[in-house]
Amino acid sequence: MQLSIDLTGRDVLVTGSDTAARQAVRRYEAAGARVFRLSVPEGAPGDGPLPERPFLLAAVDDGQPGWEPLLERSRAAGIPVAAEPAAGPAGHVTLVGGGPGTLDLLTVGAVNALRDADVVFYDRLAPYQELERLTSGRLVDVGKHPGHHKVTQGDIEKLMVEAALAGENVVRLKGGDPFVFGRGGEEVASCVAAGVPVNVISGVTSAISVPAAAGIPVTHREVSHMFTVVSGHAPLTEKEHTHLAGLGGTIVVLMGIGTLPQLAAGLRRAGMRADMPMAVVERGYRPGQRTTIAELGTIENAATGCSNPAVLVIGEVVGVAMASRNHAAASADLNRLAASLLEA
Ligand code: SAH
Repeated sequence: MQLSIDLTGRDVLVTGSDTAARQAVRRYEAAGARVFRLSVPEGAPGDGPLPERPFLLAAVDDGQPGWEPLLERSRAAGIPVAAEPAAGPAGHVTLVGGGPGTLDLLTVGAVNALRDADVVFYDRLAPYQELERLTSGRLVDVGKHPGHHKVTQGDIEKLMVEAALAGENVVRLKGGDPFVFGRGGEEVASCVAAGVPVNVISGVTSAISVPAAAGIPVTHREVSHMFTVVSGHAPLTEKEHTHLAGLGGTIVVLMGIGTLPQLAAGLRRAGMRADMPMAVVERGYRPGQRTTIAELGTIENAATGCSNPAVLVIGEVVGVAMASRNHAAASADLNRLAASLLEA
């Protein structure tokens, strides 16, 4: 069960060792509470004055025995006790897949890792607008933003490693899945090289979820039984065009807006039909999400106004989305017709 309580100005006593309680303290402070600390078992008071009767006792699980009598006394006195997880491990990096940009597609693991972070290095493809609600950690934008230069990959890795070596629990939040065109492997390697423990929390990749946002299933029974995910960062070779066209399945392209004309022409040269359905899905799950549907032979013109971030989908599955949309539109028409007949 989850409960939201306004803690503004309320006295909250946070128990547990300083290391384990550091993030819980920040969370309660951020929620506006007056935080008091008790860091030694058996009730020896911490540095500051203690409230006589706190509104809430936040018990951080620091793994030490000896807290239970205090918690029992609080409960007996009618003071609610909230169990709080211990802070994330110090000197550690977690690469977190943030999904395509909506909170709904963050994993439970991602939410927990953010909660336990001292510092979060994020970029603009991750669901960064909501970060302040999800973490009390320091937020560092290492992505592009207007008027600033992008932090280079080497510098991102350096910053992560330095923060971990300084004893922080570091989260590197990335768009989609860290291991799909996300340079996650390089970031893991630089942590390992520096002797920093690192783990990876997979995320929902835009390669599947962004087509889904437009109603396009990347596979569909009797339509397509495979999908290939390709980077459009650089134009493909002639051989790659031939292989892709020859597979006969769905082709999903990330970072493909810049090379769309070369891709369409290359697939045509490799024998793909000019009327193969194709979609460009821009800004999936974000304000301004837009889907442009055309055919391989007409997409270049149809997509002239399209911009990144966008996912391209080439294949018959695009027709499945169109068919179900037509079906939905047709049933909406039927409903309207039925309603007007009933009214008459
Ligand atoms: N690791 C990421 C991909 C990083 S490459 C993942 O698994 O999703 C960046 C590319 O991802 C963008 O150029 C775009 O093609 C795609 N992308 C990511 N988020 C997107 C979104 N919300 N809408 C459309 N495309 C997106």
